[in-house]
Amino acid sequence: MFDNYELPNPQFTEAEAKQLTLEHYGFMPVAIKPLGSFQDQNFRVTNSSGEAFVLRIENAAAQATSLDLQNQALTHIAAKDSAFPIQRLIPSVNGQTMPTTMRAGATHFLRLLTYLPGDVLAKVNTRPTHLLDSIGQVAGTFCLYLADFTHPAADRVLQWDLQVAQQVIDGFIKYVAAERRPIIEHFRQRFVRHAEPFLPSLRQSIIHGDLTSYNLLVQRDVTGRHMVSGIVDFGDVLRSYTVGELVVAVAESIINSVPNALPAAARTVKAFHQVFPLQENELATLFHFICLRMCVTACSSSQQLTLNPENEYVRELARLDWFTLERLQNIEPEVAHATFRHVCGFEPHPNAPRVRAWLNANAAQLHSMVSIAPNTPVLDLSAGSEYLNEGVWETAEMHRASLPIGESGALGRYGEVRLYASQKDSPEEPAALHLGVDVFGPSGTAVCAPLAGEVVKVAGGEIILRHAPVEGVIFFTRVAHVQAAEGLAAGASVAGGQILAHTLPARTDSFLPAHAHIQLACAEIESLPGMVPGMVPASERAVWESLCPDANLLLNHSGLQRAAYVAPAETMRRRFQVFQRAQEFYFEHEPLQIVRGWKQYLYATDGRAYLDAINNVAHVGHSHPRVAEAAAKQLRRLYTNSRFLYDGLAEYAERLVATLPEPLRVVFFVCSGSEANDLALRLARTYTEQKDVIVIDGEYLGNTSAVYEISTSLLDNPLAGKQARPFVHMAPQPNLYRGKYRREDPHAAENYAGEVREIVANVQAEGRGVAAFFTEALLGSSGGIDLPHGFLPKTYEYVRAAGGVCISDEVQVGFGRAGTHFWMFQTQGVVPDIVTMGKPMGNGFPVSAVVTTPAIAEAFRQKTTYFSTFAGNAAACQVGLAVLDIVEDEGLQENARVVGAYFKASLQSLMEKHALIGAVYGFGLYMGVELVRDRETKQPATEEAAYVAERMRHLGIIVYPTGDYYNILKLKPPLVFTQANADYFVAMLDRVLGEDR
Ligand code: PMP
Repeated sequence: MFDNYELPNPQFTEAEAKQLTLEHYGFMPVAIKPLGSFQDQNFRVTNSSGEAFVLRIENAAAQATSLDLQNQALTHIAAKDSAFPIQRLIPSVNGQTMPTTMRAGATHFLRLLTYLPGDVLAKVNTRPTHLLDSIGQVAGTFCLYLADFTHPAADRVLQWDLQVAQQVIDGFIKYVAAERRPIIEHFRQRFVRHAEPFLPSLRQSIIHGDLTSYNLLVQRDVTGRHMVSGIVDFGDVLRSYTVGELVVAVAESIINSVPNALPAAARTVKAFHQVFPLQENELATLFHFICLRMCVTACSSSQQLTLNPENEYVRELARLDWFTLERLQNIEPEVAHATFRHVCGFEPHPNAPRVRAWLNANAAQLHSMVSIAPNTPVLDLSAGSEYLNEGVWETAEMHRASLPIGESGALGRYGEVRLYASQKDSPEEPAALHLGVDVFGPSGTAVCAPLAGEVVKVAGGEIILRHAPVEGVIFFTRVAHVQAAEGLAAGASVAGGQILAHTLPARTDSFLPAHAHIQLACAEIESLPGMVPGMVPASERAVWESLCPDANLLLNHSGLQRAAYVAPAETMRRRFQVFQRAQEFYFEHEPLQIVRGWKQYLYATDGRAYLDAINNVAHVGHSHPRVAEAAAKQLRRLYTNSRFLYDGLAEYAERLVATLPEPLRVVFFVCSGSEANDLALRLARTYTEQKDVIVIDGEYLGNTSAVYEISTSLLDNPLAGKQARPFVHMAPQPNLYRGKYRREDPHAAENYAGEVREIVANVQAEGRGVAAFFTEALLGSSGGIDLPHGFLPKTYEYVRAAGGVCISDEVQVGFGRAGTHFWMFQTQGVVPDIVTMGKPMGNGFPVSAVVTTPAIAEAFRQKTTYFSTFAGNAAACQVGLAVLDIVEDEGLQENARVVGAYFKASLQSLMEKHALIGAVYGFGLYMGVELVRDRETKQPATEEAAYVAERMRHLGIIVYPTGDYYNILKLKPPLVFTQANADYFVAMLDRVLGEDR
């Protein structure tokens, strides 16, 4: 049947091909390059104006009619859409579409086609979502454009046609290793059972039929992402199942997809459907077709491998085929079907509406499954639960003990994303969405059948009943964590109300006490009995809520409401209605709803524990119990302001001052970093009686009008950041990687300081003085950039010589984060005149401070006063004290030193592998990873950085870009960050940077 498959290619030389081009197409190629082909011969030929073409010399066995089919298909599509990226056929000088040439008594057809730029998709090592969309769109477009195309040669038999897939498998199965044949058989039988009945009803049309990763060309878009840019090789165009076009595209999508296989397939299907809507019968066959297609390619590659055992290329193809088949094996066809239906806008399980309607209408007829007292409490096991605090979800025992279950037992909710399922430092989404209801009570509680049914499973502590109360309504009841009633066995019929089982005592490794898990399922999931999961990843919610509707339809307990679910998009919509939009947020496309923080993790409504690499505010760890307790205790007793006397204020000020060198002895409390810098500016101006300020390019100092004006960060001050205001002087950023003076320059520090000296001189030349020089001692707001050694001592010298005040902004970087020192300025060996602090100071509670010298403070006092209602309030002082204690008691500064050094070294070692990393800045637990497109030009990799952040978030890590070019991943985690966290972060960054985008 497929004899012509192994035809030898034509053997024309390059010189002959050039001559043929001249003869038939009227130009002598200035360049020629052979291109690969299965059975023909292809040359890339370039004319004297640099235009490239593909000269095809067809196999001698090629039929004129099938070549005409290809040509007509190209022309048909080009007529519909002149921009569609397919090749154009160039007629010969005689106006022929296919001139011929003779060789050794055989006739060869020639064709000249335009050359499409791009790489084959096969060279792209991953399939991120935008590429999946692009593949799906292209496949859909083919179906759309070819829907009305006809050709007499289209009904031909080709090996890759899904209509003959089973014959191909039959023919080639002998090449497949014996131990692998059962996989093929399994998929094939499933196809016969579940897809074949639909075949007669499927749409047929002419399709490209071979949208594989060798025929799809890709190019990078303006943001550097791969998109399908061309489709070549119409050699397999034929009439077949229309859906076959998508089948091939999906099979190519799931190889090395960034999402798991099913979400990746669904993405391609959705994009296809948006262009060319699928029908329900097509969707019913789709997954089985995909499996069958992979069986065909796996059998074919086994055959190829048998013929060419040494061919590494064929070996790699075979490996990918089997790898993909294994991925497919782990997908339940009913789940795949429901998922495809969902992305195409259909109810995921076709029977779900009928099942829900029947149960609603017949509620009164159902027997009580388990007795539940009317006021039985309903538990909240979600991440936002009131009583799940301080990490109790991390061990089964603590979690069980935390649940408020009294005499009357308790109920657990359907549709709840449960905290105990979260996994720390895990790239996979956990199965956290609960699909049943739980009835908690003493072990040994009886559970009965809600209505008559047939037992389909009794094993492993679970029972599954099948119900078919009326024609067309089929559903299943699943009861888990129970001991089956004696004698109950698969195949038995049970009556409504019959005792099925009794609850078992909780196992010691169970997060829940004794309970019956009761679940409803519409799906006759293929491997049922046994494969209705009790919990699934929350991202699959829509599909599973249809496959397994609310089990309270079986119980009808009025006090049991399903867990409320608000989609992040809805929260965002509400937010935008009332919250001004300039207030930005993280992950615009997939916003996170964080409901809990604990130590270095953030917990979202999606059931995941995200490793927090950016919240330096949660200095001692999120939700530290000692901080919470300090605030709560004081708030219960007294909350007032500093116009009254309370001990905490003085005590806290003393403790702060004790961390600082002389003469920094006078404290002002404020409420935010902005206010601290604002007040520092006032102090400096009052003291010096000057207005001019020197700041570092790219730095942010806060949001009050005064300090916003002196902020030069484009990220925070996009419009005016770099605009010259007469009294603001921007010194070049002392950045040894991309700044004015670089690592190679042994005098970089002095040269940067010299720039400040020059600014000072210029100001003085205009008859004014300098009020203040503001900087962070490690440029946190610019992305964690460490200053050249010796920069600050020199700069301070120049500023002070002109009478200016030196201000160190420790808002981001203070309180032990440097590792070696408590304050960042200490790493430069200087003592500022004013220190401002904030963010980590109250671990999130708004407390900030300015500390200065008695001389500056006194000058201020003589001229003015200062008061802030909330500053230094009684609760803030207690919280601040607690933070200082914790940093000390838990050795967090030392942790920042040790883990920071380890983390930095690991990040630096990634630079050897990934050219995208241009620099790793910083030290302690404040670092920045700068991404560049080119290490020579240092072109910022802005879009790449955004993409990396999104991917890291999918892998359970929160990190975000910053800097004037949004291309520096800032790393400033809570100080409880561990070496294991650093390892996880680096492993995931390594993975993401290794993925093509
Ligand atoms: N200084 C620096 C260096 C900062 O990064 C910030 C905030 N990003 C501030 C001051 C202002 O602090 P706040 O947001 O608490 O007002």
